Amino acid sequence: MRIDLHTHSNRSDGTDSPEELMRAAQGAGLDVVALTDHDATTGWAEAQRTADEIGLRLVRGIEVSAKLQWASVHLLGYEFDPTDPALVAELERVIDGRNDRLPTTVHALNDLGIDITVEEVVARSDDAAATGRPHVADVLVDKGVVVDRDEAFARYLSPGKPAYVDRYATDLYRAVELITAAGGRAVVAHAWARGGRRVMSREVFADLTDLGLVGIEVDHNDHSAADRAALAAIATDLSLVTTGSSDYHGTGKDASFHLGCNTTDPIQFARLLG
Ligand code: AMP
Ligand code: FE
Ligand code: FE
Ligand code: ZN
Repeated sequence: MRIDLHTHSNRSDGTDSPEELMRAAQGAGLDVVALTDHDATTGWAEAQRTADEIGLRLVRGIEVSAKLQWASVHLLGYEFDPTDPALVAELERVIDGRNDRLPTTVHALNDLGIDITVEEVVARSDDAAATGRPHVADVLVDKGVVVDRDEAFARYLSPGKPAYVDRYATDLYRAVELITAAGGRAVVAHAWARGGRRVMSREVFADLTDLGLVGIEVDHNDHSAADRAALAAIATDLSLVTTGSSDYHGTGKDASFHLGCNTTDPIQFARLLG
């Protein structure tokens, strides 16, 4: 059984519709796939319809944009109540924060002499629940300013670069509590990618476990073999589930992030969701 627990559709910053994503997952030989758009569940219904039609098991999920100290940390949530009022309110706050900073980002790019408008970026993110940096990057690619999203982040959109603008993110401890209280299962995404490496200590994982954390995404392309071994040891120590996934974004990430490039052990999946 092949299980991939972290993918994005065009309801956030992936490039496949939920239907296309489900069909691609089946084409990649997956039996179970989780749809985990950033801060949005708007792809669930379409994904479920297609999954039912083609005989794929869909895990309904999300990737919450959270924060610990200064670092951006992402939290995967699975099979929670998408109407839970506290969670819905918090996700709206993240989405609003992402949309609200867009004009500032565009202005910063204009100040650098780049011709780009808010309307162009909003149009480029037509299907998405919010307009984020990846959509700004897509417009820069369309205009030939950069060759791909990675170059747009490296030159303009990452922290410390001239068009970076901070936005609201949920406190990580609160994000675990919200997912858990909504009946879901919380797993820290790519824990040691980017800034996470410097803040996600064993002690932090232990505190999160006390609040309901269920697992750690260990097998992810942003983790080295040494990272994976160390994270798996922490997970074992704290009786947390370990997962593996692709973090597929369609053509929005390079081809090494293809569906099923990392997978979750069926025994771990049974511990996570039965
Ligand atoms: P936003 O939520 O608008 O701040 O954009 C964050 C999203 O951009 C993340 O969830 C990633 O999918 C993507 N992203 C973040 N950093 C990079 C990077 N260095 N290169 C490519 N994509 C990135
Ligand atoms: Fe993303
Ligand atoms: Fe992420
Ligand atoms: Zn992701």
